[in-house]
Amino acid sequence: MINCPQCNAQIKAKSTTHELLKCGHCGTTTFSQNNQHSTKSLLIKDKFRLKGKIYKVQTSKKIDSLTQYSIFDENKDNYILTIEDEDCTLTQIIDIKYNKNLSWHSLLPNTQIKLVEKDWLVTEKRQYQKAQYSYLTAQNAEVLVLIFQDKSLTSRIGWWIDTMEIKNVQ
Ligand SMILES: [Zn+2]
Repeated sequence: MINCPQCNAQIKAKSTTHELLKCGHCGTTTFSQNNQHSTKSLLIKDKFRLKGKIYKVQTSKKIDSLTQYSIFDENKDNYILTIEDEDCTLTQIIDIKYNKNLSWHSLLPNTQIKLVEKDWLVTEKRQYQKAQYSYLTAQNAEVLVLIFQDKSLTSRIGWWIDTMEIKNVQ
């Protein structure tokens, strides 16, 4: 159970984290997040299982408090796994045509925006030394990460992950 940030009514949350929940009382959409801090870390060449696939870690780098892994699945498709505190995402790079006015500053938390024919809720914004990240969430724990850096914008699409789902394999 969590409480609606708008009217304080109780909202029933499912067991999964990173879920968009709609208040039955006032209709406000809120974001349920995993509050457990993660100590999960992976090494280069590590193999792990996630969502029914095996991935191998190619590289890792630290972006302030964020750890970013470049990983490959068995078909050699490239994914990006990021872990920061309680937030973990599994994404792939996607090309999107953006409105030129779109900026990190304009994406205020709880703003709704339509991109790639989906409705997203801005659920998180983070500022690092060299880049600014906006995290947008849709149904089924889908995540769209917009990265503003040096006047360019890159984006990644994928899922919020619970680090407990990452299982090391030999
Ligand atoms: Zn409410």
